[in-house]
Amino acid sequence: MAQDEISEFDVRNPATGSVLKRVPDASPADLDAAVARARAAFPGFAALTYAERREMLDAFGDRVLAYVDELKRLLTSEQGKPYVEAEQEIMAFAFYIKGMLALDLPVDERVDMLGRVAQTHRRPLGVVGAITPWNFPVALAAFKLAPALLTGNTVVLKPSPYTPLTTLRIAELAEGVLPPGALTVITGSDRLGPWITAHPGIDKVSFTGSTETGRRVMASAANTLKRVTLELGGNDAAIVLPDVNVGEVAQRLFWSAFTNAGQLCIAVKRLYIHRDIYEPLKQALLDYAATIRVGEGAEKGTQIGPLNNKAQYDRVRELIADARDRGYAVLSGEAPADDLPGYFVPITFVDNPPEDSRIVQEEQFGPVLPLIVFDDVEDAIARANASPYGLGGSIWSADVPRATALARRLEAGTVWINESAYISPLSPFAGNKQSGLGAEGGIESLMEYTQPQTLFLPQETPSPLEAAHS
Ligand code: NAD
Repeated sequence: MAQDEISEFDVRNPATGSVLKRVPDASPADLDAAVARARAAFPGFAALTYAERREMLDAFGDRVLAYVDELKRLLTSEQGKPYVEAEQEIMAFAFYIKGMLALDLPVDERVDMLGRVAQTHRRPLGVVGAITPWNFPVALAAFKLAPALLTGNTVVLKPSPYTPLTTLRIAELAEGVLPPGALTVITGSDRLGPWITAHPGIDKVSFTGSTETGRRVMASAANTLKRVTLELGGNDAAIVLPDVNVGEVAQRLFWSAFTNAGQLCIAVKRLYIHRDIYEPLKQALLDYAATIRVGEGAEKGTQIGPLNNKAQYDRVRELIADARDRGYAVLSGEAPADDLPGYFVPITFVDNPPEDSRIVQEEQFGPVLPLIVFDDVEDAIARANASPYGLGGSIWSADVPRATALARRLEAGTVWINESAYISPLSPFAGNKQSGLGAEGGIESLMEYTQPQTLFLPQETPSPLEAAHS
């Protein structure tokens, strides 16, 4: 094999299959160098005050905002999403980082029953290995960078091999805004992730990706007792009660499921609809779907792009084929796919498949949605909760207090009423069950990137231990 074949790999445009760029395929020595750089930067970065790092991160967010146009084009070229969504994602990166700066990390002071005063301070962990997937490579990087850097850790960030380009460009933009070594982006094939999780110079791994890979990450991190934050797969249920205004909710429900061609961890992936409105809502969804333009993200007017990569394309098509083979009614839109070279899948609904079908039980992560009839809301809640996943969920109803009470019963880390998929840097986003471990966002995320250090304030009277012997 020629030298360049071992040391670089192609990044392709999923809409056309053309090669956009070749990027370095890091070796173990390259990873050692990246970790050494991050370690060297750590003491100085950790010694800055919280306020100083806050200012730097604010400037980092502003820097990215100044390059939205360039970054959105790059993101669409490698990820496939339409410009309008790519732009939102770049803005989300900046706003997430800037938004988290509103959080403080105060020293917690307690006086116990013996009158002893203890302060709990938070110390950064050291070097964080951050691993991101290909569906929202930029926004999901912000979920890790904001809390990790704000609390004084340095970061080695590995993007997915399918989508490394925008992340690399953002690291260039960080130069001069963040101190050298605070953020290092390293690219590589799927060999690189396991090297990161095993690396003795990395103190914590923050991983976003599939549940299957998450298990491997946790197992590998156990050897060095690395801290882990895992944001994994989901199979979010939306439950639509019969009192909704069908015309009003159809469009919102559609985008809750089909944003980013359904490649969203908190997309609605199972739509439970009350029997009384099942037919009209199904029709409204089909009518709206017929107006949607699927095509190249870089083309004006495109609303849904291709899937990001061949493996995902094959998986989604296989799930649709399975539904067809089993005789379920598969309602597909016009196939824009056939004359386009990329990984295009038409918008597809599966009409009331059985609860135990693959399309209901598995995470599809593509533009195909099962519509499922229910009669009793108690049964719908039970079915929504009967999943190994617990990422998000939503209730749709005109009766907001009732919907809120029902939402609280969903076994999911984040729940919504009459919407889905909103995330705030000020509140934890934390998968239940096999959807994750730990949290991103909120004060919880600052805790995840720090270690408590309890300091007992000195006192003149003898401690109980001394007193027992005096
Ligand atoms: P993936 O698990 O295949 O890969 C994610 C990342 O892990 C990539 O960078 C990949 O190169 C790396 N990786 C692969 N094998 C590894 C290993 N053994 N050790 C360490 N790293 C390894 O996931 P994907 O296909 O890129 O992303 C889709 C999945 O991510 C879906 O299941 C989706 O639900 C999930 N996701 C979850 C969230 C969330 O916040 N909960 C957000 C987005 C996506």
